[in-house]
Amino acid sequence: MHEAAFAALGLDHHYRALDVNPSELPAAVAALRLPDVLGANVTIPHKVRVHDLVDARTPAAEAIGAVNTVVRTGAGLEGDNTDAEGFLAAAAELGLEPEGATCVVLGGGGAARAVVWGLASAGARVRVHNRNRARAADLQRSMAAHGRVELVAEGGLETAVATADLLVNATSVGMHGADAGSPLPEAWLPTAGAVIDLVYRPAETLLLRRAGAAGLRVQNGLPMLVHQGAASARRWLGVDPPLAVMRAAAEAALRS
Ligand code: NAP
Repeated sequence: MHEAAFAALGLDHHYRALDVNPSELPAAVAALRLPDVLGANVTIPHKVRVHDLVDARTPAAEAIGAVNTVVRTGAGLEGDNTDAEGFLAAAAELGLEPEGATCVVLGGGGAARAVVWGLASAGARVRVHNRNRARAADLQRSMAAHGRVELVAEGGLETAVATADLLVNATSVGMHGADAGSPLPEAWLPTAGAVIDLVYRPAETLLLRRAGAAGLRVQNGLPMLVHQGAASARRWLGVDPPLAVMRAAAEAALRS
């Protein structure tokens, strides 16, 4: 999607995927200081370590505790995180207004941290649940300063989900190559709220299929993927990238 955006903008830039071993990470980040580099995206498992290898971090990267975008500026390397911005832009496509909404977020990893921070900063009441409860409790503690973030009480998940305006799956359950099931038992769905699954491969997870069959508004992870990518490109280029071009390229790549 980045190559498609560069071509549409008439830029002779290239986006390359680098397979970086953890032991090679400091050298890979140092290489981003070369003058012909605009920046980089960072993905699993490097998002947290890169945080300490850049010269400065944006408030989003600081609060989330992870970097998914590096920008080479005149002052060095700046670590940013565009996942929250991408998530909120995607949620807006679904008609979700976070201010005052009650949201349940499943997960305790990097994606959950970005979603919780984004929703809480935008004025939502966020309730967090994760398989590893201690990890969810850590997340809740570190996000509490940014808004209304609560831990779902033990035994309270079914009711929390039923009454949610928005349910977000930020676990890897349902992802191609991971646990193909659903993060929730079959009957546990919001009564009237929307459901967003951050997984984009497959395009329809079991959770989304059940939610769609129940008549709920649903969205997979593709809109967030495109919006977080567009936000990264905006940081590197200083202009708005063509969103429709990026979306079409991402959809084509996922179909192939
Ligand atoms: P991560 O840091 O590895 O976290 C994985 C999460 O999934 C943890 O909360 C983990 O729970 C949970 N989990 C894994 N297997 C589970 C199982 N069998 N049952 C219940 N929970 C399980 O990964 P991440 O970076 O947060 O990414 C999470 C998902 O979001 C992935 O599918 C990723 O592709 C997606 N994502 C999408 C976008 C997008 O733009 N659409 C952006 C970022 C991430 P424990 O803590 O208990 O292990």
